Amino acid sequence: MDQSPTSTHAARGSEAALFEQACMTAREAAVLASVEAALGWDERTLMPPKAASYRGEQAAALAGLVHAKRTDPALGELLATLAASHLASQGTPEIRAAIRLMAQDYEKQARLPARLVTELAKTCVDAQQAWMVARAESSWPTLAPWLEKVFALKREQASCQRPDLDPYDSLLDDYEPGGRWPAVAERFERLRTALVPLVRGCVESSSRPSDSVMRRHYPIRDQERFVRAVAERIGFDFQRGRLDTTDHPFCSTLGPDDCRITTRWDESYLPTALFGVLHEAGHGLYEQGLPREWFGLPPGEAASLAIHESQSRLWENFVGRSPEFWEWCHPLAREFFPEALAGTTAADVQAALLVVEPSFIRVEADEVTYNLHVMMRFDLERAIVHGDLAVADLPAAWNERFGKDFGRRPPTDAEGVLQDIHWSAGLIGYFPTYTLGNMFAAQLMQAAERAIPGLDRQMAAGEFGDLLGWLRRTVHATGRTQESGPLVEQVTGEPASERWLVESLFRRYGTAYGLT
Ligand code: ZN
Repeated sequence: MDQSPTSTHAARGSEAALFEQACMTAREAAVLASVEAALGWDERTLMPPKAASYRGEQAAALAGLVHAKRTDPALGELLATLAASHLASQGTPEIRAAIRLMAQDYEKQARLPARLVTELAKTCVDAQQAWMVARAESSWPTLAPWLEKVFALKREQASCQRPDLDPYDSLLDDYEPGGRWPAVAERFERLRTALVPLVRGCVESSSRPSDSVMRRHYPIRDQERFVRAVAERIGFDFQRGRLDTTDHPFCSTLGPDDCRITTRWDESYLPTALFGVLHEAGHGLYEQGLPREWFGLPPGEAASLAIHESQSRLWENFVGRSPEFWEWCHPLAREFFPEALAGTTAADVQAALLVVEPSFIRVEADEVTYNLHVMMRFDLERAIVHGDLAVADLPAAWNERFGKDFGRRPPTDAEGVLQDIHWSAGLIGYFPTYTLGNMFAAQLMQAAERAIPGLDRQMAAGEFGDLLGWLRRTVHATGRTQESGPLVEQVTGEPASERWLVESLFRRYGTAYGLT
């Protein structure tokens, strides 16, 4: 049907009004979600222990409000109209992505029966309680029935939310939009094939670096000032963020100008706090770099968990463990720790940060062995979701795989299958994002080195502005408008691959261990 220019104009005007209305609802949900985040931050940093049960009620009340906003049928209708509108095909890239992703998110949520959402939330709370007891007592039978239940419910969630996808991909897609397991498994297998001999080479090498210089007395008060200075120097904005203390470090966003990072302290091992802060500040820099005007909407959100992790790992491992970084940081560190670092050089410290020490525990793992921990979890959880492995057989499967990759078996289940909270918390399909993040970090860093002439010299002078500016322009600015694979390819000019991570680990650790 023909339309006069005026009526087309009017239709577009009303489309813009509809879009504004959808954005307003999304922003209202974001306000509630950020209140939830504020309570969550408090829970993990300052809250007194006896406040936990009432906090649970507060969190549940808010979660209910957020869910109701996000699944409001009126929003669904609005988004369906918008999806078929002129704006959805002709708007700016941000508007097109916002409409497409809001509609997608809505449909996914709306396909989940309310009964399933409630049952899953409740089961995961109970399962995490059981996990704490099970881990403390190294008792697999305490956790097993809960994991059965969680995996069954997650399988149901998978088939409800994305019936068009393989069930594992449906879950993976929650954390890594567009991620598909066969492609991930292929890259992981190549990475694993390269890493197992590298780890063996490091362990058996006769020229091992020592980290004794990092294991001296580092007073916590001085560490607090030191790590803050480092975070500030790499660009973390303390006018729009804070650093606090916690047991399990995290980064949480409470609003467009309120990013909270956390760390823990160890008086006799400096890397705990320093690398914890470099990692979380890397997450924080990403959050602070997302387009502020789109806060609460897809163009203002992170692209994926793996892209998030790539930002933290880039600062932690590719900047923070480099000789250039220590050329700048060693004199600074000596000002804060004159006794511990007396008589040391930048090279002593940097070498101490490249120790490879296979550990049973993932969160204690070094940069090289870490990915082996992640990849075995990816294979095991996928086998369960696909029905190729029974939950009851998980401990045996865990120990066998650990033996293959690390050459020994965990002495207890607490040091094996019971160590992570993820599965009890319903985080299935989450583990692979850690290693994908490491791969992306390596690939992005080598692209940054090509794009920024003299980056080495800048880092050695403690100048990180060009690197951060490049990340802001290439990765942060696009928010969630691109999936991780295409984003990495666009920024680096090559398809996402494990190649750069393998190359970087072999170069740096091969040299440190005299393997080359
Ligand atoms: Zn992280």
